Parts: sequence; C-alpha cells; structure tokens
Amino acid sequence: MALDRYRQKRDFATTPEPAGDDRLAARRAGTRKGLFFCVQKHLASHLHYDLRLELDGVLLSWAVPKGPSIDPRDKRLAMQTEDHPYEYGMFEGVIPEGYGAGIVMLWDHGTWQPESEDVDAALAKGDLKFTLDGYKLKGSWVLVRTRGYAPSSGAGQAPSTGSGQAASRSWLLIKHRDDWAGPLDIVTFAPLSVKSEGDFADILAADDPAVWTTNRPARTGDTGAMLAAIIDEAARKKMFTPPKPPKPAKAQPAPPKRAKAGKTR
Ligand code: MN
Repeated sequence: MALDRYRQKRDFATTPEPAGDDRLAARRAGTRKGLFFCVQKHLASHLHYDLRLELDGVLLSWAVPKGPSIDPRDKRLAMQTEDHPYEYGMFEGVIPEGYGAGIVMLWDHGTWQPESEDVDAALAKGDLKFTLDGYKLKGSWVLVRTRGYAPSSGAGQAPSTGSGQAASRSWLLIKHRDDWAGPLDIVTFAPLSVKSEGDFADILAADDPAVWTTNRPARTGDTGAMLAAIIDEAARKKMFTPPKPPKPAKAQPAPPKRAKAGKTR
C-alpha cells in the first residue's frame, strides 16, 4: 500500500497527524479533476516546505528546503518523500515527538492540474508539468527529476515513479514564465498560514508551548535559535492576554438605523 512507509515512520498514539483512511483513498483514486495540493511549512530539525500533490487518493510529497519560488530563474531542490494520506493536506499543528517533530503550518492549498494527459508517464519520466491554483501559488510549474541520490533497495524508499526501478529522489521545482511568475520572494512576502492566518508561534500557542521542555526538535544553529524564539513568543502569547480597552465614558451616539436596500422584512 502506498501509505505503508508513512505509517511505519509514525506512532499514531503520540502524533496528531492523521493515519489515513484507505476507503477515502480508494474513493478518490482515479480522480483527475480538482486534485488537491498543498504546501506545508514545517519547522522540524530544519525549516523546509512540503509540497504535496494528490494522485490516486494519496499525496505525492516533496520536501523543498528553500520553499517554492515564483521566480522562473530559481530551481528549487525538492526531495521526494513518502506519500502522505489525503487527509494530511489540511493538517496544521504541533508534532510533539518522533518523526517530523516540530510545527506544521498550512502555508498554501488549492487544486492542481497535470498539464499532460498521462500523469503516471510524466512521473516515471521525471518531468511533471502542472498548474497550481492556490492562494499564493498559481500558474504553470514543472518538477524535473535529477540524477541524484538513489536509495538502495535495502534503504527502502521507492518513489512513485511507476517504473519499479530505484529512481533518484532529487527533483527541481521550477516556475514557468506566465502571469503568476515574478521576481518576488513569495515565502518572505507571504509567510503566514492560510488556515489559521497565524505564524509558527500562534500555532504553538494554540497547542502547548512547553511541549519541548527537555528534547527539542532543533537545539543548535539557526534552526535551534529560531525554535527557541518561537517557543518564547508562544509562551508569551499564551500567558498574556491583552486587556480589553475600557468602554468610553460617554455613550457614543448610535448610528441611525436605516433599512438596507434590498433587505426588506
Ligand atoms: Mn516535512
């Protein structure tokens, strides 16, 4: 099954991530219109962005260390990872321990459309052209497989090539030139969640800022410093609720009530 590797890596007694419903996957298998896509911003041992494209009821997944770029001059490394359940697509939250421990933000979502009729052949060939219709990412893109690290059969990770051969997990994510391309750093320009509208500290504050008192997902380097700052900010947000502004001493004159045009009773 496509989700075996996803499930092997996780303990669903401790992670809030969905285990995935095979019946839902079976129902969506064969869907070729209105396919779901998302990008999750994931602060784990390193900050990265996970691009996920629905195909046959699961989410094909690539970890993009620098995140997507809408500048066609940029070629962003995208390492293919294990297929994720369809239900993972709207997940946002805190993974307290184990694989992927850290904070997941739903950075973008929407629908995607393959630009070639035979998407399985495109994946096997390592040249997938597709169109995104998200909040942040739109227009035409390509994922191109590169000659990179190919896992040995013993290492176990078989990317969804359909060819049965061990293929490289390394791809490049590139924006095609169109109306949705431009020299804008989209991950800096639009850093927040499209689900909760908050940042990592907001997501952590809504959960438990003290979750990593002993064993943090990242302790050193830039990522460790970033995580420490987010934990502090989340703790502040949780403990300090700004008081509501006092009511004005004098009652403000109420605006005259007027029946709105077109709204009659
Ligand atoms: Mn990830």
